Order: sequence, then structure tokens, then C-alpha cells
Amino acid sequence: MSNLFYQSRQPRPFLDRGEGIYLFDQSGKRYIDGSSGAMVSNIGHSNPRVLAAMKAQMDRATFGYRLHFRTEASEDLAARTAALMPAGLDRVFFVSGGSEAVESAIKLARQYAITQGEASRWKVISRFPSYHGCTLGALALTGYDPLARPFDPMMRDMPKIAAPTCYLDRDNLTDDERGLKYAELLRAEIEAQGPETVLAFIMEPVGGASTGALVAPDSYYGRIREICDEYGILLIHDEVMTGAGRTGKFLAAEHWGIAPDIVALSKGFAAGYAPLGAMVARHDIVDAVLDAGGFLHGFTYAGNPLACAAGLAVLDEVERAGLVANAGAMGEVLKARLIGLMERYPFIGDVRGKGLLLAFEMVSDRDSMEPLPKGLNAHSRLVDIAYDMGLIIYSRRTRGGIEGDHFLICPPLIVTEAQVDEIMDLLTAALDAFAD
Ligand code: PMP
Repeated sequence: MSNLFYQSRQPRPFLDRGEGIYLFDQSGKRYIDGSSGAMVSNIGHSNPRVLAAMKAQMDRATFGYRLHFRTEASEDLAARTAALMPAGLDRVFFVSGGSEAVESAIKLARQYAITQGEASRWKVISRFPSYHGCTLGALALTGYDPLARPFDPMMRDMPKIAAPTCYLDRDNLTDDERGLKYAELLRAEIEAQGPETVLAFIMEPVGGASTGALVAPDSYYGRIREICDEYGILLIHDEVMTGAGRTGKFLAAEHWGIAPDIVALSKGFAAGYAPLGAMVARHDIVDAVLDAGGFLHGFTYAGNPLACAAGLAVLDEVERAGLVANAGAMGEVLKARLIGLMERYPFIGDVRGKGLLLAFEMVSDRDSMEPLPKGLNAHSRLVDIAYDMGLIIYSRRTRGGIEGDHFLICPPLIVTEAQVDEIMDLLTAALDAFAD
């Protein structure tokens, strides 16, 4: 019996060590980390340069409370992070994970509205489906009923608009028109809620676990920005999964030339070497809040030097090895290979994503895009088959309000073309066994 518990009883082997894109259990069995954990381990496992930087920091100090000391690691990481953001987003607030980054974004937005004499604004519109974290504030924005519903009475359920699940649409619109149609849902919701009550809109620029790498048509992003500006509401990008290079740009927002007002980062930011996240905001927003008496928010471990040293070394590695570009290049190769699977397996209904945030979805019929029967448990069956064969992939049974089985294929950004072949060989073997 283990004293430890997580979501469910799911005995997995003990992890022994990691090396690059591989993980080894204590029996010596090797696994390809085909999902980078939960889209975290962007630079691979046991990177010697990152470990050396962390050890050097450990020899000096592992913790200094932020109200007692500044540290070079946190100052340097803030400067480096700001330099990677769109112009004007240069105030950085460190946290220990994605949910904390989202919580911080909401609380900053709210305090900013108060400084602007707009205390009536408190609603944060989000999308359905979506995932923004498991703390109560972030969960209130999360469009995934099974996780959120039990807590309804304990938090304010926030308004949500449909995410652009265009692959399910059967209309005659062009991509462009469809993007605008979905973006206009935001305007309709703001009007329905009363514009004076709406504080912000939050979205994952490319969907993550909730949708399986859902990308909106290009026209969506710019129109969303325009609508936010028109109503004076803040645009928050939750780039916890998409940020730090995963989609082939440092921020996914760069694909569309969008500057959000606040960005949440985590996961690939310290790439699994330390619990670290960041909320990055427009400087005038932060200055207004600080001038009005300070930001009423903070976590004990915020900006701890060990996590920041890890984050800095990860950024060095991302730059040194050209990993953002590699995510774009290997993403193209892997996506083409995944699309190729559709010829062989009629139950693969859709392949989507950007860079190395890629997914495929299983359906019972490609024309109607009807999902597979729930009882088939396709999402967990394929994951288990692949796991036994030594390939780790990530799945969920959820999509645009309907149940559906999708699988995220998101290897570390260091993946090579030969390793893409290795992933595809194992995935094909797993799909053959699944189809049997
Ligand atoms: N936002 C997004 C888009 C995420 O994918 C996640 C984690 N899956 C979170 C927030 C929450 O991050 P964490 O689990 O580190 O709190």
C-alpha cells in the first residue's frame, strides 16, 4: 500500500531516470516521452547544462524570501522573459505553476480595474471547452464540466463562449468566415453580460488537454483582440502549455501578431527542472496597481532562486539548441506523418495542432465525426497499449461539448527526425494492436 495518492488508483512503475526524450523505469524498460510528461519536458530529461546551473545555485542559496532579498536569478530571468514578450509586456511575476499563473492574472486584472475606477468589472469570460487550472479561481474559468461542477457552490461560475471547434462544423463558410463567426461570440457574450461588468477574456491560443490541440482559423485571433479593445476588456493568453516554444514560436500569440495584455506561462518555461511559472503583464497595468498601494497577491515560493536558476538555464538551452525553430520544423514532419495515418486507420478523424503541440482524434465515422462509443474507452486503451510498448502519449475524452477521444503527441522540442520515426513506428504498432 502506498501512502501517496493522485487522481485515481493507477499503479505505474517506479521511475528510475531520464535521458533526452527517454525515461527508464526501475526494471530498465525504456519509454519514449511522447507527451513530454504533460507537455512540460521541452528540453528533454537530465540536461547536463541545466543540472550544472541548478547545482551552482544550490551551492549558494536555495531560498531567499522575496520580501527579504532580491536574487540575481530572479532578476535575470525576469529580464530575459520580458525580452521574449511582445512590446510593452515587460513586468514579470513569478509563481510555481500554471494554475498560480492564471490566478495571478485574474487578480491583477481585477485590481487594475479598481485603480481605473471600474470596480463594476469582475467577470472573466472564458471558452468551452478549456482548461485553465485546478485552483478554485482558475477552475471557475475552466470549461470542462466533470472537473468543475462539484465545486460550483464554492466559486463563481464565469460566463463561457464556445471555443472554435471548426472541425465539427458542417456549414458552407470559409475558414476566415468561421473564425470571425466564433470571435463574434465574444461580442455577443459581453453584450449579454453587460459590458460594464466584464473584466477580461482568457483563452488558450492553441487548445491543450481540453480540446486536443485545437487551433482557430487565423481570422479569429485578430478579431478577438479588436473586440477586447472595443469594450476595454483585458485579453489574457493562457500560454501555460503553448508558451516557451512548444508551437514553433516562443509565444503562440506570435503566429498571429497578437499582443495580449497578460500572459500566463509555466510547464515548458522551466521544462520540468523546477516548479516555475510566470505571469507577464503590460507595464502600465502593473504600474497602476503598484502605484495604488501594491499587488494584493503573492506565493511563498514565488521567484525562489533555485527555480529561477533552472528557468534561466532552460531558456539558455532553448536558445543554444535552436529549439523553437526545431519545434516548428519537427512539428511539420510529425504532423505530416500523423496525417498519413488517416489512410491506414479510418477511425482517425482529425489531425491538428501547431509546432509540437499536435493531436489526433478518433471517431466512429469521418463524415459525421461521430465519436467512438464511450464504452470502448478508446482514449485509455490506446494509451495503455502504447505504454506497454514503451511510448507515452496523453489522451482525454472530451471535445467541443461532446465526448470524443483525442490523443496529444507532443515530444520534447529536442526531438530529431530519426526519433520522430521511432515514435511513429511505436504509434503504428499500438494503433494496429488497438484496431485488432
Ligand atoms: N493552463 C493550461 C492551458 C494548462 O494546460 C494547465 C495544465 N494542464 C494549467 C493552466 C494548469 O497548470 P498547473 O497544472 O501547473 O497548475
